[in-house]
Amino acid sequence: MAKFSIRGVWGGSAECGVSRESVTAYVSRLADAGINALFMGIKEGDGLLCWPSEVHPAAVKPAYRDFDLPAVLGEECRAHGIALHAWLIDYYEGELGAANQAHPEWAMRDAAGRPTSETSLRGQRYNAVWMCPARRPGYTDQWLVPIYRELAERYDLVSIHHDYIRYPGDLAPDQYCFCDYCLEEMVRFAGYLNESWPDEPFLHELYDRPHLESHWEQSPRVLPTAWKTWPREWKARFLLEGSFFQGGREDLDYFFYTFRTQQINRFARESYHAVKGANPTIKLSGAVFKNPVQSGRFIGQDWRQFAPYMEIAVPMDYRDHFPGTFDQYLDLLAETIERQKQWSADLESLWIGIAINFLFKEEPAGPFPPDKLPRVLERIASTGVEGVVMFSSGQFDRYGVWRQLPKAFA
Ligand SMILES: [Zn+2]
Repeated sequence: MAKFSIRGVWGGSAECGVSRESVTAYVSRLADAGINALFMGIKEGDGLLCWPSEVHPAAVKPAYRDFDLPAVLGEECRAHGIALHAWLIDYYEGELGAANQAHPEWAMRDAAGRPTSETSLRGQRYNAVWMCPARRPGYTDQWLVPIYRELAERYDLVSIHHDYIRYPGDLAPDQYCFCDYCLEEMVRFAGYLNESWPDEPFLHELYDRPHLESHWEQSPRVLPTAWKTWPREWKARFLLEGSFFQGGREDLDYFFYTFRTQQINRFARESYHAVKGANPTIKLSGAVFKNPVQSGRFIGQDWRQFAPYMEIAVPMDYRDHFPGTFDQYLDLLAETIERQKQWSADLESLWIGIAINFLFKEEPAGPFPPDKLPRVLERIASTGVEGVVMFSSGQFDRYGVWRQLPKAFA
């Protein structure tokens, strides 16, 4: 038996239907299974919104122009003792979504100047569009932050839940963003030239120290002499692989990665203030990757740094984010949670996210052993964390989870 005070689930808007009756049926089924926290997706991967938004009316999914899902869901959740969290996909947008249609210049670009939709993954066109977190004015300040503010103004939510609060990972992680804005802003951010004397190299008076890099603190010009005339690909290569000193160590990737984590942190901060300004009782939460030190480098998501702007971390400790067998997963999961307690020390809460489908890697076509989920829940409970969040209620039928939960949580 696994004891948790927070027994959560992520759910998709389609599971709720678009009537009071269908919402009630969904919520009461969750309550009967012992669920007391629901993270409902209302800005999903297509970039469309599942409420009658007044800030971005063109992005509202047609079925929700006249049906206020978060309002109805909130009432039903309160009646059934379930805490409602609004789950949003942040930087991943549909190619046909309203934001990308209205502002294609807000999309991330690779070194060739292509948006993610024009690249390919596993032999297929990628289709989806990742938006640039840095550009101002851009997707962050013109699109996302107003969404967070509107939700906090309209609905009585326990938290607003970040997801995809990062750069892309399954596409080559180092290839974004090299949009026109980032090419200039990264240079300014890292101080690669002195704007009042842009052409002055500012060589050191004396190179008298044992290491070339020991002469860094006067901030010499870092950019190559011909920078202004270089094409995007050369600039991108320099920003990722170049050297602070001509002939020095290839260390500019440090500044590239720092720039990216700074952009993501900045959005965490701005969305936090937008929410708190509208309703200080609403918290910020986030689905984050299991190791913030590694995700900081690879996808700009060092969620340790979200601490001032996010109360609840829900690391996605999914089995497919770990190697090995099911038994090895259980060991690695427990080990990782102990590290996550330290990484989340400055946040209010650490709830562990698990995915149902990936537990059954050995049995893709079933039958699905009924002991796997209870064993995972028990292992998580043994670490003493207060909460677990399962991905997702839409998978519960297929894997027989509805039957198992009341006993597993008893
Ligand atoms: Zn950019």
